[in-house]
Amino acid sequence: MTQESPVPNNESTTLCGACGGECCRTRPGIEAPGRFLATPDPAGALCDLLASGLWVLDTHYGVPYDPGKGERGDPDRIILYPRPATRAEQGAGSICAIPGAGECVFLRDDGCALSFADRPRACQALEPTAGFECSSSWSRFDAARAWLPHQETVAAALDRLGRGRPLP
Ligand code: SF4
Ligand code: SF4
Repeated sequence: MTQESPVPNNESTTLCGACGGECCRTRPGIEAPGRFLATPDPAGALCDLLASGLWVLDTHYGVPYDPGKGERGDPDRIILYPRPATRAEQGAGSICAIPGAGECVFLRDDGCALSFADRPRACQALEPTAGFECSSSWSRFDAARAWLPHQETVAAALDRLGRGRPLP
């Protein structure tokens, strides 16, 4: 399911090799809706990834908002978005995130098993920086905003997996 990368390849084997993949060892990056929306059946594509055991749905609590733009948040809203599983989540056979840090299932001794174009949006957006003060141009708040309009797609994928619908 190769997707067109929205981010120029910013891999740095020098910086990331020296770091040893700290980001990948703690929390896998969130994927954007684009790769699913680009398919004829977005819910089916998401369902297939979750069924593979290599991906899970993570939970964002509340709708991000900017008071300066007159936006209002909704602290009770739950937004679900997909990311690669941790090894613990894969071992548990879970399609939902398990709290706590964990190593991504795609991390290998020589780095990520996925091509840059196939990595989650949040992984692509992470900019390796000397001193390991890495920054990201796409945060979990950006992910929540991006996935908010597509929660019905997430719910349909869960339906196909025989799982309950997420909370409204
Ligand atoms: S992006 Fe940053 S934290 Fe992640 S492996 Fe590279 S240097 Fe380490
Ligand atoms: S998908 Fe690749 S780059 Fe992203 S967290 Fe997993 S191992 Fe790291």
